[in-house]
Amino acid sequence: MERGLRRLGPVAERVGVLGGTFDPVHVGHLVAAVDSRHALGLDRVLFVVAGDPWQKRGKVVGSPADRLALVQAAVAPIDGLEASTIELDLGRPSVTADTLEALAAPDRELFLLLGADAAANMPTWRRLEETRDLCTLAIVSRAGEHAAAPSPDWRVAHVTIPRLDVSSSDVRERLHDGRPIDGLCPPDVVREIRSRRLYTRSDGDAAR
Ligand code: ATP
Ligand code: MG
Repeated sequence: MERGLRRLGPVAERVGVLGGTFDPVHVGHLVAAVDSRHALGLDRVLFVVAGDPWQKRGKVVGSPADRLALVQAAVAPIDGLEASTIELDLGRPSVTADTLEALAAPDRELFLLLGADAAANMPTWRRLEETRDLCTLAIVSRAGEHAAAPSPDWRVAHVTIPRLDVSSSDVRERLHDGRPIDGLCPPDVVREIRSRRLYTRSDGDAAR
C-alpha cells in the first residue's frame, strides 16, 4: 500500500506563470490570475515582472523596481498571487523558455497564462519548442475572444474571464492626461503610483 502510494510520487504543485511588463499592473491582470487559479486549481500564480522584453524594447516606461513594487502592492491582499523577480534576477534579456526553465522543478507543474492577444503572438517567440515542453499553455480569453496554441502538440487549457477593457497603455495615458485611474488599478497600486510620481507628464514617458 505504502509502496503503491510512493510510486505515484508526491502531488505536484500547480503553479501559474503570468508574465508581463505590468507597466503598471491593473485589474485585468488580477482577474486573469484569480480566475485562472480558480478554474485550473492552481496553488499559486506568479506575476513574473519582465525586465526588458525584446518585443517591447524602448517602450517600457516604469523602472523594474517601480513596476515590481506596484505588482507587490497589487498581489499582497490576494490569496495565492505572488510577485516574482525571476526574470529581473536573470540579469539579461530573457525569453519565456528561460523563465520556465528557471522555475521548473520535478514536483512542480507549470501553467503559462497568456491572454488571447499574447497567445496569438506566440509564433514569433524564440525557443518555442522548449517552451512547449516546459508547460501547459493556459489561454485566458476575454468573453468573445478566441485563440489557439501555435500547433496541436501543445498541452492546452482554456480559461474564460469577463472582458475588462483596460490596458497598461490606457492607464498610462490617463495618468499622463491627469485623468483618474481609480477602479482600473487597485487602491494600493494607485497610492503607490502617486507616491512614486509615476507616469506623470514630467517623468519622460518614452512610450508616448
Ligand atoms: P500594454 O498596454 O503595455 O500592452 P497590457 O495591459 O496589455 O499592457 P501586458 O503586460 O502587456 O499588459 O500583459 C501581460 C498579460 O496580461 C498578457 O498575457 C495579456 O494578455 C494579459 N492582459 C493584459 N490586459 C488584460 C486584461 N484587460 N484582461 C485580461 N488579461 C489581460
Ligand atoms: Mg499588452
